[in-house]
Amino acid sequence: MAGDATTRDERIAGRERNPKWQNPPLFIDMLDCINCDACLRHCPPNFGAIFNHGPDVVIIPELCSGCDKCLPVCPVDCIHPIDGWTPQHDVPVDWWTLPHSEHDPY
Ligand code: SF4
Ligand code: SF4
Repeated sequence: MAGDATTRDERIAGRERNPKWQNPPLFIDMLDCINCDACLRHCPPNFGAIFNHGPDVVIIPELCSGCDKCLPVCPVDCIHPIDGWTPQHDVPVDWWTLPHSEHDPY
């Protein structure tokens, strides 16, 4: 445990979701995503959960509060909740190189 994970920096450092968040994090179905980046532009910077990752657009669930602000802007409706998410749901480890890198848009 890295702490309360109440700030984005803490969540990134600890790779840990804020345990107080009630809504499940979201994921992007890459088969349907058309890489328009609309969701990325609408994710609040204090969460900053969506990244361009090579040709894909990805959501790091530990950074995603489930605020759903990205949902209405997706033109193909390919963003979905991860039902039953737990911290054991590992994301590919290279996704964690994106926050605080030159690819971090927040
Ligand atoms: S639900 Fe909110 S925090 Fe999660 S990716 Fe969408 S806009 Fe960002
Ligand atoms: S808004 Fe939808 S289609 Fe556009 S990049 Fe995000 S997930 Fe992909």
